[in-house]
Parts: sequence; C-alpha cells; structure tokens
Amino acid sequence: MKVLNFGSLNLDYTYEVEHIVREGETIAADQVQMNLGGKGFNQSMALARAGISVYHAGLVGEEGIDFYDVCQDSGIKTDYIKTVVGRCGHTVIQVDENGQNSIILFGGANRKNTKEYVDEVLANFTSGDVILLQNEISEVPYIIEQAFKKGMTIVFNPSPYDERIDECDLGKVSTLIVNETEGQQLTGMTTPSTIVAAMEASFPNAKIVLTLGEKGSIYHLGDDELYQPAFAVEAVDTTAAGDTFTGFFVAGLLKQYTVRDALIKASKAAAIAVTKPGAALSIPFMSEVELFEA
Ligand code: ADP
Repeated sequence: MKVLNFGSLNLDYTYEVEHIVREGETIAADQVQMNLGGKGFNQSMALARAGISVYHAGLVGEEGIDFYDVCQDSGIKTDYIKTVVGRCGHTVIQVDENGQNSIILFGGANRKNTKEYVDEVLANFTSGDVILLQNEISEVPYIIEQAFKKGMTIVFNPSPYDERIDECDLGKVSTLIVNETEGQQLTGMTTPSTIVAAMEASFPNAKIVLTLGEKGSIYHLGDDELYQPAFAVEAVDTTAAGDTFTGFFVAGLLKQYTVRDALIKASKAAAIAVTKPGAALSIPFMSEVELFEA
C-alpha cells in the first residue's frame, strides 16, 4: 500500500519588524528567515517523521529547487513533485515585537495544478492506496473524484476553509480532520458536540476528527466517540500544531494503532511542536514522541 500527499509547497519569508507595516509606510526589517513550508509540506514532514514512507505530489516554481533535496533528506519521495514556470507559492510574514503576525499568502505554483498533472500522478496509484489532501492547492475537487474512482482511501484536512470546499464531494472522503474554526465554517455550528453531530449527519461513513487546540481532540465514527485531552506544555509557537497532529494521526491509522493510541501519539507530537518555534522545523520524530512524558 502506497501513501500519497498531494499538497502545497511554500517558501515562507518571515520578517521581524518593530510593528506591522501601516498603509503608505515603509519600514525596515531587523531579520529575515526563509523556511520551507505549506500545509502540504508540513504534513508530509510529519508523516515522514512518524515513520511513514510518503510520496509528495505538488508544483513548485523555479526558485523551489530546495524542496527536492530537503524532501529527499527527510525521507519524502519527490518522484511526483514538478517544477513549473513562474513563482513558487510563498508567504510574506511580518512578526512584530509582541509576537503578533500578519501574512500575505501567494498561491503561485500551488494554484497551477491541471487535470492532466493530477491524472499523471494518480496513474501511479491504485485501489487501497491512501491519499492525504489539504485545501492550499487547485483542483482538489477533481483529485477527490479521481482518487475515489480508483478506490483510494481519502483523508482530507479542508484547511484553510474557503468556499472552494463546497465544490468537493466530501461524501467520498473516509477521514475528515478539521480544527474548531473549520468545523464551525463547515457546519455552521458553534460547539464541539454540535459540530461533530452535524458532520456525522452529513458524512455518516467518515471518520471525523475535530481538534480543539489546547482543549484536545474528538474522534467520531458511528457509535464510537473518543475524547483525547491535549498534553499540557508551555506553548511557544502553535504554528503547525494541526499539521503535526494530522501527520501523526494518519500515521497511527496506517500503522494500525488503536484509535486511542493514534490520538495519543498525534496529541503528544503536536504538544512537542508547540513548544518549539517554526513550522516544519518544530515537528518531532517518532522517537521523541515515544519518550515524551506528560
Ligand atoms: P490547528 O493548528 O489546525 O488550528 P489545533 O489548534 O486544534 O489545530 O491543534 C491541533 C492539536 O494540537 C490539538 O488537538 C492538540 O492536541 C495540540 N495542541 C494545539 N495547541 C496546543 C497547546 N497549546 N498545548 C498542547 N497541545 C496543543
């Protein structure tokens, strides 16, 4: 069985500034850092660090050459990553002295997927293989349709949530992972229990995972409902908590852990990630997760 993550590859440029730039203003940044990121990349990194052999598919622009080496060095297979003309997806992040941020996201190559490229990638996968998706790339509805036709198992993290999710046939998804805000946007409900109930009513055959930040997470399928508290840690930077959780939870299911064990590993991994600055760089290895004591 093969595992494919079809997702975004972003260059994140983070500028440290005294304050977030105002209209008409030019300010100097004290520091700049460039990191590889994107929800797709982060989740492939989490899968790889959880011990899963994952193929990543996605498009980069000409300046995205680093993704090939970094992915390969991290155990992420790059066979289906492709370079296209134009700019990579990227973010311009300003972080002020109080740690507040503002972000410009440019979709770039992530938004250049074509049906031909999707077909080309999926031709390498078959019934029983697993595909993981987020909502930072174009052609997600088509990917879901084609992966389902092939009999692939679809895990979808509809994040960030926007109106394009309405075009996706979520009835074809076998595991849906959302955070509280996305759950609210998806269902119009406001509390964890009503969000889960509404998701179950719409997608009765899907495994539903609702993450609730430091309040933990809920898993629901049929008569099975598990609540998993988060592990108490000193949070430094919660970026990529959800991506870490998703990668480790999916890894747990693939390794046939019990759902409880998968939730525990995912929650521990995410707790470790929030104690470290950065996104992909904060994602722990399984060995670290196994040593983590609450
Ligand atoms: P997202 O990053 O997508 O918004 P959440 O904030 O819900 O997702 O976080 C995902 C998971 O990460 C939570 O279910 C929890 O297990 C863990 N987590 C998030 N924030 C914290 C925190 N401050 N302390 C400990 N664990 C956390």
